[in-house]
Amino acid sequence: MGKRTFEDVAKYVEWQSQNKCKVLSAKPEQDFDDLGVKVTVWNVKTDNDGAWWVVEGDAVPMNLYPQGAYYFGTDEVYSFHMGIMQRMQSSQEQYNPDDYIQAATLNAEIAPQLLRKLRSIATLIDSATEIEDFQSIGVQSREILIELGNHIYVPHMAGDQEQPQSSNFKRKTELAIQFFLKGSDNADYRSIIKKITEATWDYANKITHSSNATYYEASTCVSLCISLVGLYENVLQKSFDPISQHSCPICKSKKITVDNIETEETGKIKAIHLICDECENVFEIELSD
Ligand SMILES: [Zn+2]
Repeated sequence: MGKRTFEDVAKYVEWQSQNKCKVLSAKPEQDFDDLGVKVTVWNVKTDNDGAWWVVEGDAVPMNLYPQGAYYFGTDEVYSFHMGIMQRMQSSQEQYNPDDYIQAATLNAEIAPQLLRKLRSIATLIDSATEIEDFQSIGVQSREILIELGNHIYVPHMAGDQEQPQSSNFKRKTELAIQFFLKGSDNADYRSIIKKITEATWDYANKITHSSNATYYEASTCVSLCISLVGLYENVLQKSFDPISQHSCPICKSKKITVDNIETEETGKIKAIHLICDECENVFEIELSD
């Protein structure tokens, strides 16, 4: 199996110190296998260069960490080592921003102008390292949200209320939610969408001005924006899917399809008949307009 021995570990530590120290003892302190690979943390003492943790394992590069300053225990040094290795590995793997978008939106159809912007930000996050990169992710997130507002809002949604300014994302989405998700059946859905919408906008603004954002906050901001775009595509699809809220009045199944549509001479739909795939019951639904 090519398992490393005391000699391998000792040689490695002495080589790392440019042979200025001698290893007095090296023993496997703890084994880990929770990430699917066996990793051993060795406890190594030297004559004049202090004590070290050496982490190594199957397909895991060997590395050493001083016991004194930062790494108090085997758990800590193991987590740190695996975190670093994961970062190195993922930076070598081919990154495809579309995979990220598809995963975050559950493959929803995304309007092309939004998809283009999402691709751009998903690409940006992959190489973001400096605070300016993170802030500009905040700026781009805001632009995506403004574009999203323009995508779902049309002026008649305001009814007789005042028209929102063109970049007023919060107000546009609020009016769109009221328009698309009417009635008490939609109360919970409306409420969660409103909360996520406002939180995403506020967070994007925070990142734009933040002086201590890291990769992780910026990445959260990107995830929120991508999810929100997917979420509004869902809302749109729901509004274009008039039978989604219906179920069979006899067996309560949601597996229903359109049986036939009666139209008036003008082409206006008079009635829709649905058929239940479970019990073959045919029933008519009311059309709200
Ligand atoms: Zn049925």
